[in-house]
Amino acid sequence: MPEEIRFEDAGLPSRLVLAELARQHAGDIDWRGGRAPLYVFSATQEVQALGQAAFNEFFSENALGARRAFPSLMRMEREVIGMGLDLFHGREGGVGNMTSGGTESIVMAVKAARDCARKRSGNAALTGNVVLPLSAHPAFDKGCTLMDIEMRRIPLTSELVADAALMERACDDNTLMLVGSVPCFPYGTIDPIAELAAVAKRKGIWLHVDACVGGWMAPFVREIGREIPAFDFAIDGVMSLSADLHKFGFCPKPASTIFYRSTELQACQEFVFDVWPSGRFATQTLVGTRPGGAVASAWAVLRHLGRDGYRKIAAELMAMRDAYLDALLEIPGMKIRGKPALANIAFGCDDVDMGKVATLMSERGWLPGMVRTPPSLHLMLSLHHAGAREAYVKDVAAAIKAARAGDDIAATSASYG
Ligand SMILES: *Cc1c(COP(=O)(O)O)cnc(C)c1O
Repeated sequence: MPEEIRFEDAGLPSRLVLAELARQHAGDIDWRGGRAPLYVFSATQEVQALGQAAFNEFFSENALGARRAFPSLMRMEREVIGMGLDLFHGREGGVGNMTSGGTESIVMAVKAARDCARKRSGNAALTGNVVLPLSAHPAFDKGCTLMDIEMRRIPLTSELVADAALMERACDDNTLMLVGSVPCFPYGTIDPIAELAAVAKRKGIWLHVDACVGGWMAPFVREIGREIPAFDFAIDGVMSLSADLHKFGFCPKPASTIFYRSTELQACQEFVFDVWPSGRFATQTLVGTRPGGAVASAWAVLRHLGRDGYRKIAAELMAMRDAYLDALLEIPGMKIRGKPALANIAFGCDDVDMGKVATLMSERGWLPGMVRTPPSLHLMLSLHHAGAREAYVKDVAAAIKAARAGDDIAATSASYG
């Protein structure tokens, strides 16, 4: 630790604290100017302002107490889940819950799959394994590590999507879950969910669709005429689906959704306990206390935008993404990795050290997003990236030219991640 931090006796007036916060803010990456390739998602300023106001309206309420104390939050969560089930073709018997993020949604799905397998097999100590594509999010490993479940990450096809045949071969009697991403984080490619569902059905294994990044956007991208294959409960065999509201749903953090095909599957995620002095304690998801603001603001943004609003954003977002792709492809030797379906893309030149390109980008004031294999830069585009396109692509072109010509002797290759 470079400095000794103390908890001072004297407090500071709020005015000074707020001034200090603003000062601290000034040192952060200029995400509004499009300098950060991920972490912040945005639609319009109106959506941002509405989300913030709705969050503040329920700033102090706790969604842990929704059932007993805050019927407003109960109703809003039910409506958010209802809108999601309508969107993801899960209305017949489908159910779901709000969570604090994609990680929690995924951990809950893994727990539900394991506990359903335990119930079915009568083996209460069953740990088992999860078979997933190499490109699936580390949240699965986090969940499996917590539950002592073995992870089997399977190489991708040359199109950078899940290889259903290889995944099928990796399954055995103890496989709890198969996973496909819509899309995956590294390349934005969509795994062949229908093929994975066929494997899942043949083997009697739970299929989880990780639509954390793309779930609340992909249906609208399809509706504006782009190619998005079926990926949700319309496909027989999909048992659970995770979709983050705080990514391309443009709702304030922390907010995600986890959906199940039936209440019977959902029952396996629940935690019920009553061996302590305070009596029965039951939660559907991992956390206890949950911000009421996250529920209210998600409800507000969904109600405000409606399907029309999301379609309009989808059209703007995809047009902007295409403009980025077109401009990047003018750089000699540039390749887009796989076939990105939405607004997260990876790209690079195979004859250039992309780690050095990343270092040069960072010297020019960009936070470089990176993918390790194949070595690439990464972008997760939101509407606030629109104005940065020309400057960004110009700097990528210059960095690649310098790295290729060897003008970058000083630049060391940035490490990935
Ligand atoms: C972001 C993401 C997650 C994890 O979500 P968090 O909200 O960061 O916990 C899971 N899967 C995919 C594909 C993601 O992009």
